[in-house]
Amino acid sequence: MIAEVIINTTAKQLNKTFDYNIPKKLAEFICIGTKVLVPFGRKKDLEEGFVVGFKEKSEYEVKDIAKLEETLTEKQITLAKWMSQKYFCNVSECIKLMQTPGTRTKQNKVKDKIIQTIYLKKDIEQIEYDIENKTIKSEKQKKILNFIKENEGATIPEIEIFTDCSRSIVQTLIKNGYLETIPQKIERDPLQNKNITKTEKHKLTEEQQKAYNKIEQAIKNKKYEQFLIYGITGSGKTEIYMQLIEKIIKQNQTAIMLVPEISLTPQMIERFISRFGKQELAVLHSKLSIGERHDEWEKIKAKKAKIIIGARSAIFAPVQNLGIIIIDEEHDSSYKSESKVKYQAKEIAEQIAQKENIPLILGSATPDINTYYKAMQGKITMLELTKRANNSKLPQVKIIDLKQELINGNHSMLSNELYKSIQNNLQKKHQTILFLNRRGYSTFIMCRQCGYTVKCKNCNISLTYHSYENKLKCHYCGYEEPIVKTCPECQSNKIRYFGTGTQKLEQEIHKQFPQATTIRMDIDTVSKKNSHEQILNKFKNENIDILIGTQMVVKGHHFPKVTLVGVIAADSSLNIDDYRANERTFQILTQVAGRAGRENLEGKVIIQTYNPENFAIQDSQKQDYPKFYETELALRKQLQYPPFCDIIIIRFEGKCENEIKAISLETYLELKQKIEKNFLILKPMPAPIDKIENRYRWRIIMKGNMNEVTNKQLNKILTETYAKNKKDTKITIDVNPNNMI
Ligand code: ADP
Ligand code: ZN
Ligand code: ZN
Repeated sequence: MIAEVIINTTAKQLNKTFDYNIPKKLAEFICIGTKVLVPFGRKKDLEEGFVVGFKEKSEYEVKDIAKLEETLTEKQITLAKWMSQKYFCNVSECIKLMQTPGTRTKQNKVKDKIIQTIYLKKDIEQIEYDIENKTIKSEKQKKILNFIKENEGATIPEIEIFTDCSRSIVQTLIKNGYLETIPQKIERDPLQNKNITKTEKHKLTEEQQKAYNKIEQAIKNKKYEQFLIYGITGSGKTEIYMQLIEKIIKQNQTAIMLVPEISLTPQMIERFISRFGKQELAVLHSKLSIGERHDEWEKIKAKKAKIIIGARSAIFAPVQNLGIIIIDEEHDSSYKSESKVKYQAKEIAEQIAQKENIPLILGSATPDINTYYKAMQGKITMLELTKRANNSKLPQVKIIDLKQELINGNHSMLSNELYKSIQNNLQKKHQTILFLNRRGYSTFIMCRQCGYTVKCKNCNISLTYHSYENKLKCHYCGYEEPIVKTCPECQSNKIRYFGTGTQKLEQEIHKQFPQATTIRMDIDTVSKKNSHEQILNKFKNENIDILIGTQMVVKGHHFPKVTLVGVIAADSSLNIDDYRANERTFQILTQVAGRAGRENLEGKVIIQTYNPENFAIQDSQKQDYPKFYETELALRKQLQYPPFCDIIIIRFEGKCENEIKAISLETYLELKQKIEKNFLILKPMPAPIDKIENRYRWRIIMKGNMNEVTNKQLNKILTETYAKNKKDTKITIDVNPNNMI
């Protein structure tokens, strides 16, 4: 018998099957999905591969499979093949998402101790480039880098165990600037010592019951059906999920629930533990060590876990006998992967639910425009919750015109109304959240005399001023330089900092309210070292007066004492370079407003803006999603954006600009000729950031309906272009990407 094997590699040229003989002694253990080690080419070491098919005979002279490792199911292999086509990537890259993280021994958990964890210091692209160009020659160094690429935050002992390399090699990589160590406090299992009392389920409200019954019917019928639970914040969506899951477990099936990474808080998990107990729960998120991830995966495989809660990648958990998939906050952009396999978890979930004949539930207070559109067309069953389940009131929302404040002579970042409200809150000892959609001290610096702005030498984007370190930094590649006081172009000293950041806001608050305690949360304070969880806990437990933060404060948490939320400038998200700017603004404002007055204290929200008449801001004031949807959809239709078409970006990247330009032009002509007529194909252009880490970036943008025919054609063009061109060139295709950079 001959096995068809796919080699585990990212090389496009090797995305095909190779024939291997199955030795007699292995025959009974091999099936589709088995991970095997095989001799390959002239390489000394055995290569990892996956069995994806069988045949009687091969036309080639074949070698033997050397060894067996892990087994995936045939269903998983089928899914991986489907993904490879749909997302234009190698089958092996998709299979990797489904494998048990880490492989061999279990890790001893180090508790309440500072340990050194290892992270990549250079950009992944740069590392891959250095490997390909033999700047890194040592096989062991490559092995470690490849391991860290997938397991950032691993400890040195973990690296030793999983790669079979000694720590001295890790040290060399640190010395050469590829890796860095970061001390991390390993926290005790937050749930270990907690006395979680069992909670009983609520009696569903009429609206909840109606939604529940519809889904229950689909479960009974063993039928695939997709539902959208559109319910305002606090309307009791989670309660419905829990009661559905209870039903699924009772019939001895398993449930997967996806939530955005940032919502995977102990609070949320506690809620599930207090209902279902710890035994049957598996939680998958990025803060787990490899050992822990490995354990959770094994627990699922052994059918011990009945409920899997996790971020995007948990959709690949090795469950058997799946009964339901739930995706909470379905509008969240984190469900789209921007890494190697550019998958959308909602599409994967749909594929799985169809195959398994089970319901798929999407839930949100601010649904994705595309989802709501499908619901309107009848492709998704809409279930609506219009009232808050515990009868708490929606907060009062005020919109303040900043233009008017200026006219009135107020040049501060706080409008008169917001100032008074903060003061009032401080007196009452209630908590306040101030939300600012920016980071750093100011966004960029500019010469007022000649217009010169300081840009990154590698990336050609504006550097950001960081006052802590008194430095200018590039947010894309990490390049930094000391601040400039005189203009390098015209020598004038009229150089000024523009924009407003969280640090500056914090300073202003300290000036205006010297007695107030504050805590700040943005990308600079939330790093690998400080989790956003720790900051939020501190805010809550130490009763800090004011939390100042960026997007990160928007989701997940429940602060009973927060009664005031101030949005400093709603305009910053309105002006992002993205067709979803209005949608993002509506979502952010609605969710941020949802943080105020969650319990018996009444909440107040103040939105400051230079565009008070903008409809996204207006509609978010009343949490009127349907009205927002109507206006937005009309705009999308007029301008031809999703859901009326798909946006496809083909990216070209490489070291030599002329080559990249030539390849993108060639591809463009081919697309013009071969892709269906009803596509708008824009001429190749440099990307908005046209150079990252000395690699040039070009792109082609296409608009049209992505269907199977187009998908096949694009795959074909991609394969042909790869076959013709140098290895250094990278081509990726991303359908409806999160960002256009
Ligand atoms: P959502 O997920 O829509 O934000 P939750 O399920 O978290 O809403 O519910 C909001 C609050 O209402 C929670 O405190 C929850 O315990 C409570 N709740 C939910 N359903 C009911 C119900 N049927 N009766 C009473 N309280 C409920
Ligand atoms: Zn100047
Ligand atoms: Zn840069």
